[in-house]
Amino acid sequence: MKNIKLISLFFTVLVIPFLSNAQDKETLDPKLTEVWEPVPVKITTGENNAPPSDAIVLFDGKDLNEWTNQKGGIAEWIVEDGAMTVKPKTGIIKTKQKFGDFQLHIEWRTPAEVKGDGQDRGNSGIFMMERYELQVLDSYESVTYSNGQAGSMYKQSIPLVNACKGPGEWQTYDIIFMAPVFTEKGSLKSPAKITVLHNGVLIQNGFELKGPTEFNRIPRYKPHGKASISLQDHGNPTSYRNIWLREL
Ligand code: MG
Repeated sequence: MKNIKLISLFFTVLVIPFLSNAQDKETLDPKLTEVWEPVPVKITTGENNAPPSDAIVLFDGKDLNEWTNQKGGIAEWIVEDGAMTVKPKTGIIKTKQKFGDFQLHIEWRTPAEVKGDGQDRGNSGIFMMERYELQVLDSYESVTYSNGQAGSMYKQSIPLVNACKGPGEWQTYDIIFMAPVFTEKGSLKSPAKITVLHNGVLIQNGFELKGPTEFNRIPRYKPHGKASISLQDHGNPTSYRNIWLREL
């Protein structure tokens, strides 16, 4: 008991004043920690769901001028009522422009008329750099493997929650994607990284991809440069609208 009293006296009289004194010496003039340059570029944010002023608009509801089919020919998906819809069997479509790191906003809708189950219900997908798939699927009240449901990085990362709206309702993905970096010799320096908000809710939090999306093999990186964003034709008439991107 006496020892405890002595220790507590030691702290009160000697140690605590010493520590607070040391902290005082670290206090700086607040001006020394202000940084004034660079000044962030001023942009205007979109009203009523419109893109911000510095965005590249990839689809504004009118035409597929920013898109081609797999072979670089005309994209044949259907444009109607401000949306584009997969025309089954015409294949993927991809952006004419190629991108590295970006922020992407994209809205999607699975068919109101529910057909099929699991992976056959409103399946499509958004491929970053034509390789890394963020799943688009009707997972509202439909069961499939968790790492293949809507919001999964297909076969790699389960979404943190199921934030799906019902079939026929418009939904949003807001994506922040960092491209993988390769050394000159072609080995992986840093993996691709992705953060995704689904209908405003965080579902992928800086996930580091294991490699390109694979259906039936282990993902392995192969070096590549900038690439398109592609949208999957999985045979279901899923729709997209209001697609814009900001390069980072
Ligand atoms: Mg898919």
